[in-house]
Amino acid sequence: MRDATHCTIHPAVDLTEFSSLTVPTYRASTIVFEDAEAYATRGERDLDSYMYGLYGTPTTKTLEAQITKLENGVRSVIVPSGQAGATIVFLSVLLPGETVLIPDSVYPPVLDFCVNYLQPRGIYHKIYQPDGTGIEDLIDPSVKLIWTETPGSTTMEFQDLWAIAALGKKYGILTGADNTWATPLHLKPLDLGIDFSMQALSKYAGGHSDLLLGSICVNDLELRKKLRDTMRMLGIGVSPDEVALVLRGIETMAVRLAHVEQVARNLAEELASRPDVGLVLHPALADFPQHALWKRDFSGASGVFSVVLTKSQEGNLEDGLNQLKVIAIGASWGGTRSLIAPMSVKKGRKFAKPEHQRTILRINVGLEDQEDLRSDLKTLFDILSR
Ligand SMILES: *Cc1c(COP(=O)(O)O)cnc(C)c1O
Repeated sequence: MRDATHCTIHPAVDLTEFSSLTVPTYRASTIVFEDAEAYATRGERDLDSYMYGLYGTPTTKTLEAQITKLENGVRSVIVPSGQAGATIVFLSVLLPGETVLIPDSVYPPVLDFCVNYLQPRGIYHKIYQPDGTGIEDLIDPSVKLIWTETPGSTTMEFQDLWAIAALGKKYGILTGADNTWATPLHLKPLDLGIDFSMQALSKYAGGHSDLLLGSICVNDLELRKKLRDTMRMLGIGVSPDEVALVLRGIETMAVRLAHVEQVARNLAEELASRPDVGLVLHPALADFPQHALWKRDFSGASGVFSVVLTKSQEGNLEDGLNQLKVIAIGASWGGTRSLIAPMSVKKGRKFAKPEHQRTILRINVGLEDQEDLRSDLKTLFDILSR
């Protein structure tokens, strides 16, 4: 063979005695076949083997298997974002004329998808109360999926996943959970009878605010096939480089979560003890309305909680936020930096509670020193209450 050929073919090297603790990043579009017969029969390969880079490489499969283990499921798929995790479940399950039930407190882009993408295509949604009250009354023969997100975005309501999974079984309706807040380290929705457990890996699994990915785990190979069919036909796959970042991030997830849980609890308790601070929404606080439900189903809390401002505090919000030294202003969560995001749920909610009508600060606790965070929050709330 001549040089141009040598340029294109990598020499094989001996891998015996090479053993590392990391997962190689396998990049591929084309996957080549051993012989003519392997190529001719490639269509018979099952979903756990390899056919084309879009459907996964050993790097993707490693993360799938790791998510499956943590979620205590049977198979997982990795998708480009948490939002794609929700939309791919919906598109895999719902046909025109059918309906999905979503909580009023759902991650807002999921509502947007229901209203502006599914509805014009004849797929409908109905909104249930954030704490899950009244779901059964919304069930009719068109309902094929109940989507849950516990706790709810910003307002932190918890849903009874056992009861919702049981309703699903009673009426033959599939159920799904957005498990991003708790992560499978604190909640295993499939163990409670939920059919799809989705998480935005962009948050705690990635852990460094530098990537977007999502995962969906199921207990049933038929559901995995539905997800994979949807992804194949829409041409949805993920980059092994992003997957490799999650494989790195997930190694420290348990330690990071344990740390942010403790610090977030300390800060939430401290804020709740200040007479000038409004409602603190953190499920570990004994007077949190759904404290008992959280304790029953979750093994812990993560580092995200909310504080509802009082009317008079709203006026000083800009001043207060601009004085933050450590905590950055921004949405999202799960990275090493603490974040604060002022939210308003006034618009876009159907069952808005009077106590949620004011500005809500969503706080993500990161990995900075607790005393620095405490002093930043003290400065903030001192200014807010001025
Ligand atoms: C961030 C988030 C999502 C979306 O994840 P992306 O990867 O940013 O698309 C979905 N649900 C919840 C609860 C989230 O926090």
